[in-house]
Amino acid sequence: MAPEIKYTKLFINNEWVDAKSGKTFETRSPHNGAVIAKVAEGDKADIDAAVAAARCAFHRNSEWRLMDASERGRILNKFADLYERDVQYLAQLESYDNGMVTQMAQMAVAGAGKSIRYIASLADKIQGDTLPVDGDGFSYTLKQPVGVCGLILPWNVPILMFLNKVMTALAAGCTVVVKPAEQTPLTALALAALLAEAGVPKGVVNVVTGYGETAGVALTHHPHVAKISFTGSVQVGKLIQQAAGVNNLKRVTLELGGKSPLIIMDDADLNIAVPFAAHGVFAHQGQICVAASRLFVQSTIYDKFVEAAVKHAKGIKVGDPTDASVQQGPQVDEEMMNKVLGYIEQGKREGAKLMTGGKRIGSSGYYIEPTVFANVTDDMTIAKEEIFGPVQNILSFDTLEEVIDRSNDTSFGLAAGIFTTNINTALQFSKHVEAGIVWVNTYLQMGCQAPFGGFKDSGLGRENGLHSVDPYLEVKTVTMALPKKF
Ligand code: NAP
Ligand code: MG
Repeated sequence: MAPEIKYTKLFINNEWVDAKSGKTFETRSPHNGAVIAKVAEGDKADIDAAVAAARCAFHRNSEWRLMDASERGRILNKFADLYERDVQYLAQLESYDNGMVTQMAQMAVAGAGKSIRYIASLADKIQGDTLPVDGDGFSYTLKQPVGVCGLILPWNVPILMFLNKVMTALAAGCTVVVKPAEQTPLTALALAALLAEAGVPKGVVNVVTGYGETAGVALTHHPHVAKISFTGSVQVGKLIQQAAGVNNLKRVTLELGGKSPLIIMDDADLNIAVPFAAHGVFAHQGQICVAASRLFVQSTIYDKFVEAAVKHAKGIKVGDPTDASVQQGPQVDEEMMNKVLGYIEQGKREGAKLMTGGKRIGSSGYYIEPTVFANVTDDMTIAKEEIFGPVQNILSFDTLEEVIDRSNDTSFGLAAGIFTTNINTALQFSKHVEAGIVWVNTYLQMGCQAPFGGFKDSGLGRENGLHSVDPYLEVKTVTMALPKKF
């Protein structure tokens, strides 16, 4: 049964309002393309209203700013209680709007409760230092919230992205305006309602649904927004960094895409490596920024590995995401499906060997067969660009030295992985690969305690971990005279 759609309006100053223009846009089911709901289409005027509300809530005399940090943490923990109360509904709604399969929704959405409590626990542990300074002085630092934050979300894991960004900003004491992705606006609205129910004062959290080109652009150019945190494509990430310097100087955190290398050495246990390599690229239909989309297999085991990988891919159960036994669901929308199918055609044209899959499944919904390409070379488009679909590209290499250089020969630097039973190989690879996250004999293993982000064009800054609040804080040095004699 379809989950109830409770909220479709903008959330500004703890109230549900229509877009000032009165416009709405449709959000569709990836499973069958049917319209799920019409959602308010916010643009510049609504962003202005939301930023004004967030700015008012950030005033030094506001309830939020005067609140004891422990009370802030308590409200965020209350939100965790409400999240846990509604987690089945939230997982269902995520799956309905995004196409995430039940298996993943259960694991990722339900697992996020832990992450909420972890970040909430940081609220009252933000502290500065006392500093020895020259002369008769005494210095200390204050860490203070940066101000109104614009948080721009992608469509691939909407709940997790909302929680990562919003929770961290709130733990730091900031106020926020959230712009969810056009494809998946619904769960952000449901989470905003829970934050208000938990006791977050009005204006602290605002959600403006709408398009990147209008609402997103207005947010990134707004002079009263102090910081932007964005997850999405490299292309838009670069636009955001430019926009951040136009009307003021916004702090920027960017979590962008990748073309992450996964290395299989010939001493690896293939019983583990084959399913992990498949999970690394087929999980969530390949719509994961850290997807293992360049799979380098040592030449001595190449044919054997490809055979096993193809067998594995053929065994993946694709279908309706609400079926608990299904492992792969639909791509998020028709545009993304066509983009992925375009890459598959290009792979064939450029000489990669299609081993299995390669086609759309049926004509309703946006399903693509799990696809494996062998004989992929570094110069092919499918080995260079982020596909964001269920496409495993298998390349061959001879030596560790060679594969490290080839791994790094990209402008991306998000994640990397290696399967080997040789500790020195694992250590050398981990040291030299240019990536923010490295997995050894595992893949996609993440936790709220572990910093997440990329080298090079894959991003700027890190989310998660003890230091995740730092980009939401300013450091203020206070120095006072302390005469030696008194
Ligand atoms: P995108 O265009 O980068 O969109 C991400 C977010 O930015 C959305 O909320 C989007 O709004 C907004 N946006 C778009 N243009 C903007 C602008 N000029 N200023 C401010 N905000 C703007 O990503 P996409 O179109 O959904 O997907 C395209 C590709 O991005 C994918 O194929 C994939 O390669 C990559 N991607 C990466 C991640 C990741 O986790 N790193 C996640 C999603 C996608 P609208 O949705 O309304 O356009
Ligand atoms: Mg877009």
